[in-house]
Amino acid sequence: MSEKTIPYKIYLNEQEIPKQWYNMRADMKNKPAPLLNPGTLQPMTFEDLRPVFCDELVKQELDETNAFIDIPEEIQDFYKMYRPSPLIRAYCLEKKLQTPAHIYYKFEGNNTSGSHKLNSAIAQAYYAKKQGLKGVTTETGAGQWGTALSMACSYFDLDCKVYMVKVSYEQKPFRREVMRTYGAEVTPSPSETTNVGRKILEKYPGTNGSLGCAISEAVEVATSHEGYRYVLGSVLNQVLLHQSVIGLETKTAMDKYGITPDIIIGCAGGGSNLGGLISPFMGEKLRGEKNYDFIAVEPASCPSFTRGKFAYDFCDTGMVCPLAKMYTLGSGFMPSPNHAGGLRFHGMSSTLSQLYHDGYMRAVSVEQTDVFEAAQQFARIEGILPAPESSHAIRVAIDEALKCKETGEQKTILFGLTGTGYFDMYAYQKYNDGLMTDYIPSDEELEKSFASLPKVD
Ligand SMILES: *Cc1c(COP(=O)(O)O)cnc(C)c1O
Repeated sequence: MSEKTIPYKIYLNEQEIPKQWYNMRADMKNKPAPLLNPGTLQPMTFEDLRPVFCDELVKQELDETNAFIDIPEEIQDFYKMYRPSPLIRAYCLEKKLQTPAHIYYKFEGNNTSGSHKLNSAIAQAYYAKKQGLKGVTTETGAGQWGTALSMACSYFDLDCKVYMVKVSYEQKPFRREVMRTYGAEVTPSPSETTNVGRKILEKYPGTNGSLGCAISEAVEVATSHEGYRYVLGSVLNQVLLHQSVIGLETKTAMDKYGITPDIIIGCAGGGSNLGGLISPFMGEKLRGEKNYDFIAVEPASCPSFTRGKFAYDFCDTGMVCPLAKMYTLGSGFMPSPNHAGGLRFHGMSSTLSQLYHDGYMRAVSVEQTDVFEAAQQFARIEGILPAPESSHAIRVAIDEALKCKETGEQKTILFGLTGTGYFDMYAYQKYNDGLMTDYIPSDEELEKSFASLPKVD
């Protein structure tokens, strides 16, 4: 098919929204290592996980055999309100860069949460409701997940308690108000409302908080209140599963026009958007049908893949959560306060960690001033004001396109544009004022953090 027939935006129709999620683990020869019980160090069973997560989500978490899992009709209906999301051909960016590369991005920012997080939030809220629970608790960092979950909970009339990393709570008051508008109760973390919060405050007075710490508080509240469960917006297998809707739509859209990406790029915080975007393509690679160059992009200030250790670690600072085998910087790692770009979790999805370890994908780290330069360039050329997180992927997509300009190769580049950056204007302001700096942790700092890794193997 000639290039001219590819539109700027490839939209699918409603009937083409996937009716099943795809579970990459079914096609992996080396399965991700199981979650371990922090007390016994034995693999977490269904019964172990039930007090923390909804039953159906525990099943999904532990399922490594079923490749396809039906999306319940209620969730499909909700998806129809804001999906399918567009796959966009970045003609304007290509022209500006004068690259022979073809650049596509899948834009997930067209909903009030401003990110892909709603894809999993609605699924998790649905299963909580179906189980007859009163409500759910969670943490939020930049605020997109808390917003998405608030939206999902109000839709299903569930109570929603959000522990928001203190620094974001203070820097993003309007995020908080969006969540409250949807009926959520928002508490800055660490807080005095939990045992673990009080302990952390004692140990680190004046701390800005971290995701790991907010997770500990949310889990404590869920497990100590009847009718509540904890939900998590990234990292877990179940979240990658729900996010496969991104990749499945992308693949359907590309197949329609006979497009095959050479390079697939996503930013990586806990790995959910990247895992979701690559899933059907990775499935082909795992089955030996096709080859793709997958690139995870992470901040140089929180470099789990590129400088972390592949080891069992706690998912939270309070060390109450199960242990996951993943690329990690240590659960006590706190990114520098001048890091503005999100993606600040110390670990990484165990599924993606295994794939990375086995050489199925690669990872690069980028510095935040370069990320914001790409963000600004993208906003000016493609019109969309990107989230700082998403801009990590933009940075590397542009870099790859510029490499093609040098070599004359006409590669097809696909990246995930996970969201919009309207609530990140403090970070943009810093960049625009020339006050943004880069921070790269030293080896000594990382070693100090690795020292707290639990001894498991
Ligand atoms: C949460 C978030 C991310 C990072 O999370 P992953 O689980 O790694 O996808 C990236 N972009 C946006 C806009 C987000 O809200």
